[in-house]
Amino acid sequence: MAEKSRIGVTGLAVMGANLARNMARRGFPVAVHNRTTSKTTEFMKDFGDEGPFTGAETLQEFVDALETPRKIVVMVKAGKPVDAVIDELAPLLDAGDIIIDAGNSHFPDTDRRTAYCAERNLRFMGIGVSGGEEGALLGPSIMPGGDVAAYSEVEEILTTIAAQVDGTPCCTHVGAGGAGHYVKMVHNGIEYADIQLIAEAYDLLTHVAGLSAPEIGKIFEEWNSGDLESFLCEITAKVLAKTDDTTGGPLVDVIADQAEQKGTGRWTAMNALELGVPLTGITEAVFARTLSSLADERQKASTTLGGPTPGGGENRDDLVEDIRQALYASKVVAYAQGFAQMRAASIEQGWDLDLGSMATIWRGGCIIRAQFLNRIRDAYAEHPDLDNLLMVPYFTEAVANAQDSWRRVVTTATEQGVAIPAFSSSLSYYDGYRRERGPANLIQGLRDFFGAHGYRRTDADGSFHTRWAQDG
Ligand code: NAP
Repeated sequence: MAEKSRIGVTGLAVMGANLARNMARRGFPVAVHNRTTSKTTEFMKDFGDEGPFTGAETLQEFVDALETPRKIVVMVKAGKPVDAVIDELAPLLDAGDIIIDAGNSHFPDTDRRTAYCAERNLRFMGIGVSGGEEGALLGPSIMPGGDVAAYSEVEEILTTIAAQVDGTPCCTHVGAGGAGHYVKMVHNGIEYADIQLIAEAYDLLTHVAGLSAPEIGKIFEEWNSGDLESFLCEITAKVLAKTDDTTGGPLVDVIADQAEQKGTGRWTAMNALELGVPLTGITEAVFARTLSSLADERQKASTTLGGPTPGGGENRDDLVEDIRQALYASKVVAYAQGFAQMRAASIEQGWDLDLGSMATIWRGGCIIRAQFLNRIRDAYAEHPDLDNLLMVPYFTEAVANAQDSWRRVVTTATEQGVAIPAFSSSLSYYDGYRRERGPANLIQGLRDFFGAHGYRRTDADGSFHTRWAQDG
């Protein structure tokens, strides 16, 4: 009888295929399956000799090929397909088998599926996997959530296939239930903010500094050797340097300016609203994508709505340095907000998230990997109950040093009519957060005027109501 496989992967599109190859290349016997059988056949033809694979045509064959308790990675389209696969698998499995959803599922769905599987004596894990196609093959960042005992049974495989930074795998158990998918969701939200900030810097460098795409690509290459060192800066330099075969000009100049999205940024923003956490950077990034998609309306508005035309008037070298500083400070704010959101969710859900570990496992393999995450890891190592990353001396100083540049960039962009929703909202958040007394006293007065909602006073305890019209 053939040797049983240690783990199975069902769903052989780009992510599932590459995760399975990653496991087999590291010596783990893997059974593979896909709903459309021809994809399994193709997979075995193309990669069957890369490692100890067993190709299964049917789910029954797939399940039979696995050692027990079975460990099955489901890597199919997020949403209903995950439920469909669980429903098909469940009757074929034995008590204690582990179903691992490694796609981008929404965390409440993961909680629901965990309960659904538990009712059938099955164990369920929701794990976040980041790094795209290449990460899945060469070493992704993995954010496993769910039952700790189930995790211990797949820990060796997951930590071996994950990216490694300084000998540490970018994989650690995150928390119970949907915690892994939650953290992956916030990771993707931060990715939205990071990308939006880069796009705003590119816009300013193009329209205010008057630089070409390849020139801006060189600037990002330089920035990538300093505080901003990150995968996203590295690939920005490459995207901006690319020449289009058809026009002979920069490829980026002929790409349509309408950003798409699959939903993880929107989920992050919606969850922040539910938690009551100010998450301006990520949320503005989501709105900026939706505004970009209003192409027809923007085309009409461009000839109707007046405003300044950007360009010139600034010392180019100073402006480039100011934009770099503004990008860094806004990025610090976006991460501070994302980590504050994870902290609030952890308290609400009882996940006990170790935020320093989240920074540690994002240092490699994933899309937001960056040097900067070492600083965040260190901050939480020193202050595990930190309210806000901005309060750690390293980040307090970094933002203080950058803020003159940051304010100049926001002023210049506003004067010249360049939209910078993420730069400017991050600065407003910073200014709002550092104010001991803001203007919400007036909001409370107005609420009490029209709705008798009451207010608290600075000089006495209790709730007060004023008959404003009469007493005014
Ligand atoms: P995908 O395009 O999201 O999904 C295609 C796979 O899902 C195919 O194997 C397809 O099988 C299967 N499928 C769809 N409906 C099904 C159903 N009702 N029953 C059984 N199988 C079904 O694939 P992907 O891009 O590799 O992504 C997989 C997951 O990883 C998603 O959740 C995605 O969001 C997440 N993810 C993707 C990336 C990325 O960079 N692409 C990065 C991180 C995470 P057939 O061949 O039979 O149609």
